[in-house]
Amino acid sequence: MLAYTYAEKEKFELREKSKPELVNEGDAIVRVTLSSICTSDLHIKHGSVPRAVPGITVGHEMVGIVEKTGKDVEKVQPGDRVTVNVETFCGKCFFCQKGYVNNCTDRDGGWALGCRIDGGQAEYVRVPFADQGLNKIPEGVTDEEALFVGDILATGFWAARISEISSEDTVLILGAGPTGICTLLCVMLKKPAKIIVCEKDPMRIQFIKDHYPQVLTVTPDRAEEFVKTECPRRGADRVLEVAGAKETFELAWRCARPNGIVTVVALYEEPQTLPLPDMYGKNLTFKTGGVDGCDCEEILELIRQKKIDTTPLITHRFSLRDIEKAYDIFENKKENVIKIAVTP
Ligand SMILES: [Zn+2]
Ligand SMILES: [Zn+2]
Repeated sequence: MLAYTYAEKEKFELREKSKPELVNEGDAIVRVTLSSICTSDLHIKHGSVPRAVPGITVGHEMVGIVEKTGKDVEKVQPGDRVTVNVETFCGKCFFCQKGYVNNCTDRDGGWALGCRIDGGQAEYVRVPFADQGLNKIPEGVTDEEALFVGDILATGFWAARISEISSEDTVLILGAGPTGICTLLCVMLKKPAKIIVCEKDPMRIQFIKDHYPQVLTVTPDRAEEFVKTECPRRGADRVLEVAGAKETFELAWRCARPNGIVTVVALYEEPQTLPLPDMYGKNLTFKTGGVDGCDCEEILELIRQKKIDTTPLITHRFSLRDIEKAYDIFENKKENVIKIAVTP
């Protein structure tokens, strides 16, 4: 089968590999019907994910059809249409039991697919702990509607959940890339008083204006002033940083009101500095880290009810054979791309 592979730093290539087999009794083999490219794939390509293993098939956003299951798999069976979770988790350890599945203590726990074990920019993928990592796609929900459930939509859902948003809040979201937009969709479900999206790319600002006219938009250079004018409490009650740049990290705490919550979802390519003396007395709460993708069933139900729709994010469609071209468009932000759907 064809598998897009992390050959070495700065180099991915399409390779012919053998079809994956069951390794453990909790595994499932899934025939990929649609996958996507994520910014994290680019982080691997540029060598900023040290745990990524050269030779690995990349890709961790995918949906498919279960082809084969191990003896211990109970939740899904061959023929089921499923979303695949970016996180691999056992469901039994201390962290899994608490819902902190990103910190699962299993050897393959956390983000392993397409990083430490073969991922889904391929025709087939082996999913360990299939009872945890797979969710059945409800009837009436298409592959394109379900495509982002296991990764960027799970991230947005988790970010909105841990930010403790109430109806009185003004929420500032930094970044309107794919994960930023997913975060926005999930924040909207919380019905806060006001939502402001900060983004520097005019095309992405236009996307927000076109699709979500009730949301306010601002560019980073004007953000701090704008937020303080819009928010009577000297800043945003909740700030969700999804952009991942030095400037946006700084904006996140600058734009937050005293005693606000700053949720940092972004994956930075470099360390960031938290200048504590400058924010002394602001008494901020920071929440940071990688997604705990354990709400996929709930997300799929919200999609079924048409309360979340991420299909406008799919701006391009490619076949796996042409994935090189898809990466070029995605990485270099050509043709107003937001997300690309890849068909094996
Ligand atoms: Zn991702
Ligand atoms: Zn676990």
